[in-house]
Amino acid sequence: MELKDLSWPQVAAMGKDVPVVIPVAALEQHGHHLPVFTDSMLLGEIVRRVMSRFEKTVLFAPLMWLGNSDHHLEFPGTLSSPPRTYLDLLSGLLENLLTHGFKRLLILNGHGGNDVPARQVIFETRQRHRARTDLLLLAATYWNLGGRPHEVDSTISQKQMGHACEWETSMILRIAPQLVGDFAKVEPVGFDDAFEGIPRGWITKDRTQPGHIGYPHLATAEKGEVLLNVFAEDVAGLIQRVINWDGKSWA
Ligand SMILES: [Zn+2]
Repeated sequence: MELKDLSWPQVAAMGKDVPVVIPVAALEQHGHHLPVFTDSMLLGEIVRRVMSRFEKTVLFAPLMWLGNSDHHLEFPGTLSSPPRTYLDLLSGLLENLLTHGFKRLLILNGHGGNDVPARQVIFETRQRHRARTDLLLLAATYWNLGGRPHEVDSTISQKQMGHACEWETSMILRIAPQLVGDFAKVEPVGFDDAFEGIPRGWITKDRTQPGHIGYPHLATAEKGEVLLNVFAEDVAGLIQRVINWDGKSWA
């Protein structure tokens, strides 16, 4: 079910154990060769692929395209919610859904900069409603759900999400090739980080001048189909677990 298509009496009549999926993405620079709406297009496609399996059992909120992208603001076209505003915005959305009686809320994220805010918001929301024992508040980023695309297709080189990289370029090639610029000549930008594993404050220009991180020149539409499938399967598996949850236990 899509929230945008329902009337308020239909929402009122729904069972409140129905999981609500809140897709959140971004509008930000994706190098010289991909559109600024890349993250929103990709998460939108993944949601589209899984939605038909949960037509009667899950409520999908419309994708929120404005994300936490301040680190990309040196690049024209990037639109960003200031980080603290973004926390309040996500927090407000969760509160709205709790007010309407829903108990199983899944923030489904498609942009790296939203990861920390989404986690913070589910943590804070749980603290505000600490007397409740029936809430399931989750924040998930689609490429961090366990899928290993390079094990499904050994021609895929990258093993992690970059930015406007082999993964993202391949997926946009699959769904909107007319929006992809000349990626074949784009020079790779490595994932180098002398302090890997240690959280470090950064802006995108610290890591890349052209705007991408990774190996976009290796992209193909065929890889894009594999990637979208792997990620859609992961998301569908997670949603099924939310449906199956017993409504009480941590286990
Ligand atoms: Zn992206």
